[in-house]
Amino acid sequence: MKNLSKYLFFFLIFIIFTNALSKQNTIKNIRISDKPDNTTTRIVFDLTKKTAYSVFILDNQPRLVVDLEASSYKKFEEFKSNIIKNIRINNNGKGVIRLVFDLKKVAFIERNFYLSKNNKNVFRLVIDLRSQKKVKGNIKTKIKAKKPFTITIDAGHGGLDPGAVRYKYKEKDITLLAAKELRLLLDNKGYKVYLTRNKDTFISLRKRRKIAKKYNSDLFISLHVDSVKKKATRGTSIYTLSDKASDKVTAMLAERENKVDLIAGIDSTKVDNEVFSILLDLQRRDTKNASSSFAEIYVGKIREHGYRALKRPHRHAGFAVLKSPDIPSVLIELGFLSNPKDAKYLSNKKSRARVLKALSEAIDLYAKSRSNI
Ligand SMILES: [Zn+2]
Repeated sequence: MKNLSKYLFFFLIFIIFTNALSKQNTIKNIRISDKPDNTTTRIVFDLTKKTAYSVFILDNQPRLVVDLEASSYKKFEEFKSNIIKNIRINNNGKGVIRLVFDLKKVAFIERNFYLSKNNKNVFRLVIDLRSQKKVKGNIKTKIKAKKPFTITIDAGHGGLDPGAVRYKYKEKDITLLAAKELRLLLDNKGYKVYLTRNKDTFISLRKRRKIAKKYNSDLFISLHVDSVKKKATRGTSIYTLSDKASDKVTAMLAERENKVDLIAGIDSTKVDNEVFSILLDLQRRDTKNASSSFAEIYVGKIREHGYRALKRPHRHAGFAVLKSPDIPSVLIELGFLSNPKDAKYLSNKKSRARVLKALSEAIDLYAKSRSNI
C-alpha cells in the first residue's frame, strides 16, 4: 500500500526523575533554528519538568512526531526553517501532548537528549533533525525498508474449544471461514495478511497476541459469532479494550521479557520498573485510541452497507485477546448464532461476503487515516 505511514525509524526514549512523577509538566516554549550548514535543524523544548517522551519520524508526508508527558503548553516563537514547515499540537487532556512537525523534506533524527536544567529551572529537550539529502553516503541513516500495512486476522476459538454451538453450526467453523475469506479480500488489495490459525486447532489467547506481534502487525482483528439466550437479538458489534482492563495490561507487562519486546533499543536491565510502566502507558493510550478509531470506522461502514448492528455496536470489554499494548486490536462479533436469521446469514458464503466487504472497506479507511497522523 502506497499511502500508508511507515516508520522511517522509531525511537522511544525515556528519562525520568522519580520526584518529577507527581508534578505536571508545562511546555514553556519551543524554539526552532537551522544550523548554518542548512542541513540540520535543532528543536528545543523548554520544560518545567524532565519527563517521558517518545520521538519518531513518519516518512509518508514526512512528519516528526513527539509525544511528551505534559499537561499544558504556552505559545511558541515564530520560526523559519529549511526542514520544518509547521507544527500541529494536540493536547488530549490526559497528560500527553502530541506535537506533529510537518517537514518540508524527508529527514531523520540525528540526536535527541536532555540538557541539564538551566539557572531559570528550565529543562531543555533537544532534538536535532537532519535532512537526508545532503548527507547521502556519509551517514548511515538506518532507513528501514517500507513495510506494507500488516493485518493479523484471528479466527476465534478452534480445536477443543468450539465457541458457540447452535443449530448445526459451530462458531469456530464460521470464524475460520470468515478469516480465510477476509484474507483473500485483503490480499487482493495489497495488504500483508496473517492468520492466527488456518485450520481447526486450539490456540491460547496469549499465543494469538504473540502471532500478531511476531508479524509486526498494524492491526489485529479477532472474529467471533456471539450467542445469547434471547433468540431475537441479532446484528454485529465490535469490542475494544476497556480502561479497567487496560490497567492490568501495564501490570502484566512488568515482566521483563515483554519489555524487551516492546521497547526497541533500550536495555531494560538498566531502567527501573516505574519508568517502564509509564512508557508503556504512553504507548497503550495511543493503541487504545487507534483501536477505538477503527471500531468507529467499522460501525460507520456497517451502517453504510445496511448490515444489521446492535444498538450500541461499539462496546468495551476486557477480552484477553485485545491486550496487546502496542497493536491496535478489535474483537468483532459478526452476529448471533442464537438468532436463526444471523446463523443462516453467517453460515452462507455469499451473505457472509457482505459483512466482510464492509469490514475490508473499514480497514482501507483506517489504514489511510493512520498514514495521516
Ligand atoms: Zn467467540
